[in-house]
Amino acid sequence: MTDQRHLLHPRDEILQAMERIYRYRMTTTSGGNVSVRQSDGSIWITPARVDKGSLTRSDVIHVLPDGSTDGPHRPSSEFPFHQAIYKARPDLRAVVHAHPVALVAFSICGTIPSTRIFHQAFFMSGKVGFAPYALPGSSALGDSIAKQFAAGCESVIMENHGVVVAGKSLSHAFERFEAFEFAAKTLLKANRIGTPRYLSDDELALANKRKISMNSFVPGEPSDRERECRKQLIDFLRRGCRQRLLISTEGSFSARIDPEHFLITPSQSDRERLRIDDLVLVKGNAHEAGKVPSRATRLHQAIYEKHASVQSVVFAHPVNATAFSVTEGNFDARTIPESYIFLRDVARIAYGVQYEKGDTSIADIVSLKSPAALVENDGVVVLGTSILDAFDRLEVLESTAEAIINAGSIGKVTPMPNDVIDELRIAFKMDSV
Ligand SMILES: [Zn+2]
Repeated sequence: MTDQRHLLHPRDEILQAMERIYRYRMTTTSGGNVSVRQSDGSIWITPARVDKGSLTRSDVIHVLPDGSTDGPHRPSSEFPFHQAIYKARPDLRAVVHAHPVALVAFSICGTIPSTRIFHQAFFMSGKVGFAPYALPGSSALGDSIAKQFAAGCESVIMENHGVVVAGKSLSHAFERFEAFEFAAKTLLKANRIGTPRYLSDDELALANKRKISMNSFVPGEPSDRERECRKQLIDFLRRGCRQRLLISTEGSFSARIDPEHFLITPSQSDRERLRIDDLVLVKGNAHEAGKVPSRATRLHQAIYEKHASVQSVVFAHPVNATAFSVTEGNFDARTIPESYIFLRDVARIAYGVQYEKGDTSIADIVSLKSPAALVENDGVVVLGTSILDAFDRLEVLESTAEAIINAGSIGKVTPMPNDVIDELRIAFKMDSV
């Protein structure tokens, strides 16, 4: 996980996690609580009845093993079930509980979302369980939840209440929570446009087989172009996470520096917290020494090799566009001029092509003439003539997808006719790219 050394004080870990959960709109100010268990058996937890949007370090409560508390408030009223989870599962060190809208939708329908729509959600969420209803704050609720964790579950829907996930660290629990909510959000959208397609065991296993075997090299003095690309990539990665175009645990973003080099996101890192020196320089069959590049590095490289004008590539998971990737729902970008000019005819890439299964390569499908594609059960890929251009197209793709999904609830989606498209192609010189 991302914070293997656990250098952060639990007060700060809890504050950061809560701030992010609130900013991502995965809790209301009154709902949601987060805790961390220390090796001495004590538990740090968010307080009861304090605005989650303006929590401070001193608000976090320390509950000692003898049950006494240290802090200006009472611990969260849900402390009993946090304690019950830790008792049932000594391997788990952090718990996140909230009422995020998509998972709550499953909770009030008395069902659990299948995480088999993405390899990332499936492996990240772990075994998913369902805890029957009990009164909030009661020991009966603690028993109901602890029973699921004792049976090996790590992400549990609480009937008519919300969700609780636990992890080996708070960042692990947060990533699990985000992945689980993302799967739920995508399923809700996907059900509005078609029937979700679920991955088989063999398909899920493909994702784990992907390994990067490259040499490493020690780069020389960076050029100003490299420095510029590092800064822009980090800025857009952060913006992408905050605007929910990217999720923290999956996706890759790269930029070409010159004909021989490109920069790419590292493997297995929290995308929102990356710094300029985390990005990995790639040259031919070698990557910058001491870093591990994204597992999608070869896909980015193949696109740069085949298409000389492409300067940036992003694989991302914006929820509305991703919903099209998990169904047969038709994505037609001929909705408004902006969408067609930026996206053109959006291709669909069969599941497995991204893992180099079969003869087709993603680089044969996408180009600046077809700069955006849906990757079945794996989000989207977008190309650009600059980092900004790629990001811009990603935003247009997501807004277009959201508009199509919303339009479906009020009427029939009517694409622009061929003569309008021809007029756009001429006026915006679209055939000259
Ligand atoms: Zn609750």
